[in-house]
Amino acid sequence: TGRGAYRGRFAPSPTGPLHLGSLLAAVASYADARANRGIWLVRIEDIDRPREVPGAADLILRTLSAFGFEWDEDVLYQSRRTDAYRDALDTLAARGLTYPCGCTRAEVARAGRAGPEGPVYPGTCRPGLPLGRRARTVRFRTPPGAVAFEDRIQGPQEQIVDEAVGDFVLRRADGLHAYQLAVVVDDARQGITQVVRGADLLLSTPRQILLQQALRFGQPGYAHIPLILDTEGRKLGKSLSAPPVDARDPRPALRAAWTLLGQTPPPEDLHPDAFWDWAIPQWHIGRIPARASVACPTA
Ligand code: GLU
Repeated sequence: TGRGAYRGRFAPSPTGPLHLGSLLAAVASYADARANRGIWLVRIEDIDRPREVPGAADLILRTLSAFGFEWDEDVLYQSRRTDAYRDALDTLAARGLTYPCGCTRAEVARAGRAGPEGPVYPGTCRPGLPLGRRARTVRFRTPPGAVAFEDRIQGPQEQIVDEAVGDFVLRRADGLHAYQLAVVVDDARQGITQVVRGADLLLSTPRQILLQQALRFGQPGYAHIPLILDTEGRKLGKSLSAPPVDARDPRPALRAAWTLLGQTPPPEDLHPDAFWDWAIPQWHIGRIPARASVACPTA
C-alpha cells in the first residue's frame, strides 16, 4: 500500500490525563499506521461536555508529543463538529431511520430487558410518541438481523443489534449528539480506513457499522486491543483512578505498553525517537493477545 492508503486515528476523550490504558490504544494505532506507511490522526472526543475535565485535552496532546507521536493533520475537535452531526441526523431522519422518543432513562431501565450493554430499549415510542409525551431523545430505528465483521485481533464477531441493544439514542436528552453518531461521522470525515482501539468498544462496533450503512459511508477495518487489568484484576482501561503516564520520562511506559501489546521488548530503554525508529519496523499486530493481560502497578 502506498502512503495515504492507510488512515488511522487515536480518539481520546478528555476526561483526564493519558494513562497506560489509553497509551496502549495510542501506541497500537500509531505503530499499525506507521508500519503500513499510513497516515495517523488525533481526534479529541470532547463531545460529552459534562464529563470533560478542563485542560485535559491539551495535557493529552502534550503527553502524546512527549512520547514521540506525530500526527499528520490538524487535530479534530468533536466540540466543533455539531453542524456535521446535525446534518447526519437530518439525513437519517429524511430516510425514515430515526424517531423521537419520550422515555426517560429510568423508564427504559424498568421496561427493558437486561442486555450486554445495559437495558435493551423495548421500542415503546417506535410506533409514535405516545399522546401527551414530549420528545426527549432521538433514536435510530435498528434494523433486524445480525451485523458481522472480522476483527483483526478478536476474530469474527457477530451481534444482533436489535436484540442486544434495540433502537439506540443518536441525540441525547441534554441535546448532545451521541458518541455512536459522532464517531461514525468523524471517522468518515477523516477518511479512516483502520480503527485500532480498546476492546471496551467491541460491542459498540455493530451499532457503528449500522450507522455507516445508513449514512452510506465506507466501513473501516477494526482491531480491538485487549483491556489491561491491574494486579487485582480490575480493568485499568477506563478507570479514573488509573495513574497517569509520566510525560517527563516516557521510556518505562513506552516499554510497558509495547510489551503488553505482545511485542518483543526493546533491547534497552529507548527515548521516544529512537524507540519509534526501532519499534515500527518490527510491529506485528498478530502478536497482540486477544484477552486481557495484567499490568505492572508501577507502569
Ligand atoms: N473516545 C473514546 C474513548 O476515549 C474512543 C473512541 C474510539 O476510539 O472510537 O474511549
